[in-house]
Order: sequence, then structure tokens, then C-alpha cells
Amino acid sequence: MNIKNYINGKFEDPIKGEYIDNYNPSIGEIYGQIPNSSKDDVEKAVEAAEKAFPSWSNTTLATRSKILSKIAELIKDKLEFLAAAESKDNGKPISLAKAVDIPRAAANFQFFANAITQFSSEAHESVGLNAMNFTLRQPLGVVGCISPWNLPLYLFTWKIAPAIASGNCVIAKPSEITPMTAFLLGEICNEAGLPKGVLNIIHGLGASTGQAIVEHPNIKAISFTGGTETGAHIARIAAPMFKKLSLELGGKNPNIIFADCDYEKMLETTVRSSFANQGQICLCGSRILVEEKIYEKFKTDFIKKVSELKVGNPSEETTNIGALVSKEHLEKVKSYIDIAEVENAKILFGGDRGTVKNCENGYYLQPTIIEVSDNNCRLNQEEIFGPVVTIMSFKTDEEALQLANDVKYGLSATLWTNNLNRTMQFSKQLHTGIVWVNTWMLRDLRTAFGGAKDSGVGREGGFEALRFFTEPKNICIQY
Ligand code: NAD
Repeated sequence: MNIKNYINGKFEDPIKGEYIDNYNPSIGEIYGQIPNSSKDDVEKAVEAAEKAFPSWSNTTLATRSKILSKIAELIKDKLEFLAAAESKDNGKPISLAKAVDIPRAAANFQFFANAITQFSSEAHESVGLNAMNFTLRQPLGVVGCISPWNLPLYLFTWKIAPAIASGNCVIAKPSEITPMTAFLLGEICNEAGLPKGVLNIIHGLGASTGQAIVEHPNIKAISFTGGTETGAHIARIAAPMFKKLSLELGGKNPNIIFADCDYEKMLETTVRSSFANQGQICLCGSRILVEEKIYEKFKTDFIKKVSELKVGNPSEETTNIGALVSKEHLEKVKSYIDIAEVENAKILFGGDRGTVKNCENGYYLQPTIIEVSDNNCRLNQEEIFGPVVTIMSFKTDEEALQLANDVKYGLSATLWTNNLNRTMQFSKQLHTGIVWVNTWMLRDLRTAFGGAKDSGVGREGGFEALRFFTEPKNICIQY
């Protein structure tokens, strides 16, 4: 199937007529083409967005809210179809796409359809000076949203929904590796009655299409989710242009397990937080730190549970672990397994390519557990972003905290304990944007979402996102 750009409500071929192959990772074969858009396509989209902006930014909140709710409803109606498309494009198990990716994409639109009706600005009375201030929160204009391949429609809509809810017009680029559901979203927006030009979806490579979005002088803000290096590169271009920037980047999240936790719940959740979506979720707990007292027991039980996971064709309902997203990514992840020996680490489980019947050329990898003895190794310091976790033991709270924080990333951390004092100490002292205690990936869309240190700048979610996509302007009136 050939994908087109979505500009001004219409589906268009790229102006220069250049395309990129789109792969089905479960069988390692090309199944379509996507536009390799140039600066000219971005320019055309920006013109359409600028034209749509005066009207859209003056559309009542009730109307915007209704259109966003309609988009949510249509995504829900097409759940099976979109989940199948997502699974084929990305390699993720169909069960995951049905339970998580597509429902969450609908929830993103529904959430911001509601949130915009509750968003308010502030007033400050300057007592004694006979003056009153009030702050307008105005949409920025045309904004850019750039998203990665791991949760394609989920993360794409997490940016687009607040951007348009708050009255902006958007130039959005999904990952060139997983463009399909973003393409299908265009049709849904037309069906929901989103005015033309409010959302424009441009496909293409990061270094050309993405870069053209970041460099465009009339695009006022960039909301980006992706790798830390790409984020730094984007910041170098956008910062001197004084664009607003929201950067959601990589992670190397600790999963800290104490002996006093609810063991069964922890074990089951840890299997998920390690390997859901083939470990390709920025929030996956890739460094498992276990209190020495239960280390050997945990190791045995964890290996047993992980060995029960079924690596298989993502389109089969019983598959737990599907294909990795691309051949390049599979090779990158494997290269980390290959350095285990050099790093004095021991592969406890997995490590090999998974073989899946009738999918011999797919990009499969067994879930892999590696025991490390030192946090200061590449396996524990670099983001692998695949079905690979490391485990190591600790003796004291101080040691656990030190290990957890001893990494350049700071996205999330998971803590397993029933000790209230410890919970509070860790919650305060972990250098991350998100801390989960006795749970993982429980998401309330009102909460601030984002990372510290090299995991990013700015926060998404709830009113944080609406604040990002609006400019506060203070009006001071003396009477
Ligand atoms: P990536 O940085 O390679 O690409 C992300 C997006 O940026 C893609 O659409 C890509 O085309 C585009 N891009 C690449 N170069 C660009 C440039 N020069 N200018 C503009 N756009 C450019 O990341 P990826 O490999 O697609 O995704 C995996 C990464 O995303 C991992 O590091 C993961 O941790 C991170 N991630 C973070 C979060 C979070 O919320 N913090 C969520 C999901 C994924």
C-alpha cells in the first residue's frame, strides 16, 4: 500500500516524487512505499496551516471539543483495523495494539477534548496600585510534532491532540519506520470534520523532512519524542531560533526491588516492564536491581516466567513477543548482547534470534536476561531499547539509590517495597521525571509526563501540554 502526505485535507504525492520502502518486520519484506518529502512539501503544509489558523484559533472550545471527541470515537470504531495496521507496520503483538496502542490514541483525543473545556488562565490584582492583571493563553500558530516508531499512533496523537485542542495548526511527522497509522489518521480527521489545514501529516526521513520542519522559520514550537542524540541535534537548530521546545528522549530506567515487596505482583509486572513491546518502550525498566536477600530466588523465578513468553508472529493473538521494528534495530540490540562477555556479564536467558515458523526472515529476538556485576558498563549505561534487561544485586538502600541514579538518563524509575519511609526517601531522591511505586506504566493522563537529565526537557500531559502549546500574555489594566 502506498502512503501519501495529508496536506490541507487532501492526500498528496511528494512534490519531487521520491519514495522510501516500508517494511513489514514480522517477515522482513517491503509492503509499501512512503513519501520521502522535501522542504517543498513542508512549505506547502505550512502554507495550508497558516491559512487555517485564523479560523481554527477562533473556533469555539465547544466546537473544537466536539471534533476531537468525534476523532476519538472514530478511532474506537476502527480499533480492529487500526490495531492490525499498527501490528503489521511495527511488529508489535496484535493483542498489545488492541489493548494499549489504539485505545490510548482514542483516549488522547478524548482527554484533550475534555481538558480544553477546563483550561483556564490566571488573574492577579495588584492591590494598592488600582491595577488588575489577567493572562491570556493564546495558541502559538503553526507547530511541529515529531514522533518515534515504538508506539506510533499512541505517541503521534499524544502531541497532536493538545496542539489542535489549544487552537494551533500542526505539521506532524511520524517515524518513517512506522508511518501507516499516521496516514490512516488523516482520513479519520476528514471524516470527523476537522477543517482542512488544521492538521497536516508529512512523511519522510528525519534528516531531511524532519529537519525541514525544525528549520522552518514559521513553525513556532517543536514537540519531539525520540532519541537523546536527535533531541540534542534538534535543540541546536531550534534554540537559536527561539522556538518553544518539548523533548521527550531516551531512558535507562531502574527497576528497584526490595525483599519486602508484594512478590507475585512484582514478578508479574517486572516481566511486563522488561519485555512489553519487545522492550521498546521508553519506560521499560531495563536495569533490574534486586535486594541481595531475594536475589537468587528472583533470578530463578524471573528466568522461569520469561521462558514462558511466546516469541511469535505478531498477528497471532497468543504471541507475547513480536518482531523488532527493523533489521538495523535488531542488529543494534544484538550488538549489545555480543558485548556481554567483554563486559564480564553473563547471559542467563535468551540471547539468540527467535525462530518463528513461516516468518524466517522476520526480525525476532528472544527475551534476554543478562547478569552484570557493575553498573559502570555499557550494558547498564546505554539505552538498548530492545528485549534485553540486566540484573544485579544490592545490599542497602543507599547502594540501591546510588546505582539507580548513576546513569545519564532520568526518565522513570520503578520501586517495589511496602516500606513507607523508604518509598518517600526514594521518591524524593530518584533523579527521574516519573516514579512508579508497586506498579508500572499506570498512566493518568492529567499527570506531568517527561524526563530529567538526558531524558528530556519539558513535560507533556494534562494542562502541562496545553501550557506548552499556548503563549501566556499578561494584560495589566490600571483603573
Ligand atoms: P529517533 O530520534 O531516531 O527518531 C524520532 C523521530 O525524529 C522520527 O520521526 C525521525 O524521523 C525524526 N528525526 C530524526 N532525525 C531528525 C532531525 N534531524 N530533525 C527532525 N526530526 C528528526 O528515535 P526513534 O529511533 O524513532 O525512537 C526511539 C527513541 O525514542 C528511543 O531513544 C526512546 O527512548 C525514545 N522515546 C522516548 C519517549 C519518551 O516519552 N521520553 C517515548 C518513546 C520513545
